[in-house]
Amino acid sequence: MSATSLLQIDKLNKSFGENQVLTSVDLNVVAGEVVTIIGPSGSGKTTLLRCVNFLETYDGGSIQIDGREVGFTDSVSRKRRGEADLAGMRAETGMVFQSFNLFPHLTAEQNIMLGLRRVRKKPHKEAREIAQHWLARVGLDHKADSLPSELSGGQQQRVGIARAVAMDPKVLLLDEITSALDPELVNEVLDVVRQLAVEGMTMLVVTHEIAFARDASHRIVFMADGSGRE
Ligand code: ADP
Repeated sequence: MSATSLLQIDKLNKSFGENQVLTSVDLNVVAGEVVTIIGPSGSGKTTLLRCVNFLETYDGGSIQIDGREVGFTDSVSRKRRGEADLAGMRAETGMVFQSFNLFPHLTAEQNIMLGLRRVRKKPHKEAREIAQHWLARVGLDHKADSLPSELSGGQQQRVGIARAVAMDPKVLLLDEITSALDPELVNEVLDVVRQLAVEGMTMLVVTHEIAFARDASHRIVFMADGSGRE
């Protein structure tokens, strides 16, 4: 592994029952790099991101973030790690989802503060300042006290991105983050991602936005039949 490699995936295998979804996937993302994964529906793109973010176990191979093995291959190692450690490790890879996944009963600011308080153990005042900083960065400082239901889809997704980057992840995982949006709201979200890319955030992005993939990412990996190729 090279010194600057932030995410290293080696020979990753994953099946759901008889269905082999990932077959010996190798992927290396260096610091500051934006890698986009494209490919047909069902080719394993989401599963790959979910393995990196611990939302799925995998059957073989390894995933390292900043030189540290992060994944787990069975429930035993998950138990050994403990849930608290798991939450801390998961925070190394911020993930933003297609369906926003904001907590509906919490304001935009509270959504961002939650992980900072519970996982990063930040004092209330500091968590609030970080949340306000990132809300401003995504152009939503005036919506800090709004509930998700009071925000447009594009605004909700910008809060989702702010929530993920506020945790200071080493790698940001974006899974089809514009797919649920009306077309006119797509660009306000992609602009935020473009800005993060310019600032050197390391990102692994699954998208159908080919123009975005071409102009904002350094590399495009094509997934087909469970394996990736460039
Ligand atoms: P993509 O993101 O490229 O559309 P996915 O990773 O979502 O692909 O899915 C890859 C394959 O894995 C599909 O055949 C899908 O049905 C299957 N799959 C995904 N998640 C599960 C699951 N939790 N249980 C069983 N099969 C799953």
